[in-house]
Amino acid sequence: MNKAFVREPDDTGRVYCPRCKSLGSPVEAAPLDRYVAPAARNKLGAFAWFCPYQHCEAAYFNQFDVVVTVDELTEPVYPKDLDAPLCACFGYTYDDAAADVAEGQPTRTRELIARTKTPEARCRESAPSGQCCVAAVQELYLRLRNP
Ligand SMILES: [Zn+2]
Repeated sequence: MNKAFVREPDDTGRVYCPRCKSLGSPVEAAPLDRYVAPAARNKLGAFAWFCPYQHCEAAYFNQFDVVVTVDELTEPVYPKDLDAPLCACFGYTYDDAAADVAEGQPTRTRELIARTKTPEARCRESAPSGQCCVAAVQELYLRLRNP
């Protein structure tokens, strides 16, 4: 499922974070099993939404306003923690984007974007948000380059 789909105005599947009202991104069971601690995992079913807002304590939620908070996760996730990898598949981090900007060449960023188009990229299973990281990576790079 891509972002164009979840942002479609007529899409009745849109669900907003009960804490901060950000539009959630749909997440299947694999990331929930990986990132939600066992003690909190049964609060959510096989499907939930990820809150993409950095400063919101809610990590995952469902349409019944059940929330799993950042401190109920098994590890830090981006963008809740800016030190966590942006790309769960290949490990691209904030520092990689900053290094590219410092060098004036998006070497690491280009390489990452190329790798996300290969079968090795398993965003739906691996990414905390269930989404491909490319949009977030490009946004971060541009934000650091044009502060
Ligand atoms: Zn939120």
